[in-house]
Amino acid sequence: MIDNFLSTEIKYLPGIGARKAKVFNEEAMVFTYEDLLNYYPYKYTDRSKLYKVSEVTSDMANIQIKGKMATFVTSGEKTKERLHAEFFDETGTIELVWFKGIKWVRQQIKPNTEYVIFGKPTEFRNVITMAHPEIEEYEHYKTKKQTPLQPDYFTTEKMKTAFLTSKNICKYLNELFKAMPAKINESLPAYLIAKLELMNLQDAIVNIHFPKDPEQLIKARYRLKFEEFFYNQLSILRHKLNRRNNTRGFVFEKVGDIFNFFYKNCLKFELTNAQKRVLKEIRADLRSGKQANRLLQGDVGSGKTIVALMSMLLAIDNNFQTCIMAPTEILAQQHYLTLIENTEGLLLNIRLLTGSTRTKARREILELLQTGEINILVGTHAIIEEVVQFKNLGLAIIDEQHRFGVAQRSKMWQKNSTPPHVIVMTATPIPRTLAMTIYGDLDISVIDEMPPGRKLVKTLHITENKRLRVFGFLKEQIAKGTQVYIVYPLIKESENMDYKDLEDGLESISRAFPPPEYAISVVHGQMKPEEKEKAMKLFVKGQTQIMIATTVIEVGVNVPNASVMLIESAERFGLSQLHQLRGRVGRGAEQSFCILMTSFKLSKEAKKRLQTMVETNDGFKIAEVDLKLRGPGDIDGTLQSGAGFNFRIANIVKDQAILQHAREVVNNLLDADPEIKKDEHDVILKQFRKLKRTQNIDWAKIS
Ligand code: ADP
Ligand code: MG
Repeated sequence: MIDNFLSTEIKYLPGIGARKAKVFNEEAMVFTYEDLLNYYPYKYTDRSKLYKVSEVTSDMANIQIKGKMATFVTSGEKTKERLHAEFFDETGTIELVWFKGIKWVRQQIKPNTEYVIFGKPTEFRNVITMAHPEIEEYEHYKTKKQTPLQPDYFTTEKMKTAFLTSKNICKYLNELFKAMPAKINESLPAYLIAKLELMNLQDAIVNIHFPKDPEQLIKARYRLKFEEFFYNQLSILRHKLNRRNNTRGFVFEKVGDIFNFFYKNCLKFELTNAQKRVLKEIRADLRSGKQANRLLQGDVGSGKTIVALMSMLLAIDNNFQTCIMAPTEILAQQHYLTLIENTEGLLLNIRLLTGSTRTKARREILELLQTGEINILVGTHAIIEEVVQFKNLGLAIIDEQHRFGVAQRSKMWQKNSTPPHVIVMTATPIPRTLAMTIYGDLDISVIDEMPPGRKLVKTLHITENKRLRVFGFLKEQIAKGTQVYIVYPLIKESENMDYKDLEDGLESISRAFPPPEYAISVVHGQMKPEEKEKAMKLFVKGQTQIMIATTVIEVGVNVPNASVMLIESAERFGLSQLHQLRGRVGRGAEQSFCILMTSFKLSKEAKKRLQTMVETNDGFKIAEVDLKLRGPGDIDGTLQSGAGFNFRIANIVKDQAILQHAREVVNNLLDADPEIKKDEHDVILKQFRKLKRTQNIDWAKIS
């Protein structure tokens, strides 16, 4: 019965009607009574507090002041007419203004009477002003029971024009609560509510609109946020469970000769503990009989490549082929070289396939893949094209996952009749909670430790007028035998942005660093792959000391001898980009530097980004700040679908602790009742179905 009532169209609510309902539908997606109940306030105003005039400042939200009215004056004519009044108490005076209803106000307001006014103070020519305040006689105000926290609802201009003001929405909700024939059905299991001491749904909905007191509001909020995360995580984790149970995976039983030979003879350093732990996690995946889907996170330079390589060796030991896909040609080449260098003596057949692989070589590669002779295929997204068929692909690795879309990842699944194991790697540290929602159905491994002996990169923010000194510094560094990167945001100057561009920069750098003493490489996205490769190689081999580039070098490039990263117009770059770029240096034993060059005028956000870079080298901290500055909708490439972030009240940035809690609860629940069959969980299934129907969200799709 209550469900029928709640699904009533909003136009039937007394006072709303067809016209308002239409606006409510279009502007706020409110169609039914239930939608109105779920139209939560975005803030609350404290109506129990009365301010003194002297306390009022223009940055306050809506407030109440007690005082008296004096000296009405009109100004302007006809449509421009306005009414001004002085409003004062024993501490001072502010000005009130009306643009409409002037006659009415003049008639109503009595001198020498105490009023309570309510509105938003602003400042105009050093005078605090309030336009169109709500007015009430203090005598009357006194007699009313004051709800301390009054809800404010988001409204658009169109809504206001249709009289769907915050105040009216409040009124309609009051009506609705009065008309409700029964309590709202609970949407969480009773035992959970008791155990977690959550507020029940009925009370939560009442208190989110009309909080009895601040404490009740906190409880209501917690309950509603928890519920949103609960169903979000349940959907993701259930999907993951289903997939695990229904997708068979290859079993890599043994650690064989190739892996062992590599471990004894090829590995040039001791693995960090984090690398060892992650390798163990991967090994467990690979022999579990389930298809592995693992996200490997590790900051720039944390040593993901070697973990990838060793995982690939496990595949080869078990007679499978394997591949690694990178987002750029340069990175694919670099991986190719790294693999060749590191596997000397193993007699592996490793090939590189990119967009620029010549026809003849390509044909050969495609053939050798099908005969099974190629052990490891390295490449760009050329790998996932349909013509590329393996004899028996057992493990696919995707580097810099955030540069690829979801669709591309799923193509890897189709490269064998039983889907290969998939490991995706990313150096864009994603805060754990975000990973839980975006990559919710992946298992996550984190390399949270840097190889030993690394010196932290020193980061400096420097303004352009000190450019000569910076050049002097670069010269000193080069004289020590190290190399430097200089990165520009653009290739060619664009008219309306005076950011340093690469071509311009090349000119001035060439002048400041003339041959034959200095040699310069240039790499940017508009060069032919062969040219890029040539320039890169010169730099990698140390034949050029300066690498001038755009962000194409952002990803993965490894030149341990480089000790300075100079970023021009650093205010142009996002935080994660800056962090990635900085990660290009600090890979050798020398102290390295990252210099962020900017103009003087910086936006507040740019300042925050630069300051964050200077303060910390920790990729996860940087990711958190980035998330706060940009909001979750903007995290690189992760949110093509946009799904998963239309939480009504929960906020994945601010409510991380609640998300974590909800995830634990869901995990326990699925352990105890994997198929959600227990009677006590009926309510979950019901709610689940309803969410699917009404929100049309398939959470599982997002990863
Ligand atoms: P990323 O995680 O950014 O992909 P890489 O895999 O490119 O990092 O590793 C960065 C550098 O660190 C490489 O030169 C690699 O050889 C080196 N390296 C990786 N692991 C270790 C280790 N355990 N000890 C010393 N150096 C390491
Ligand atoms: Mg890498």
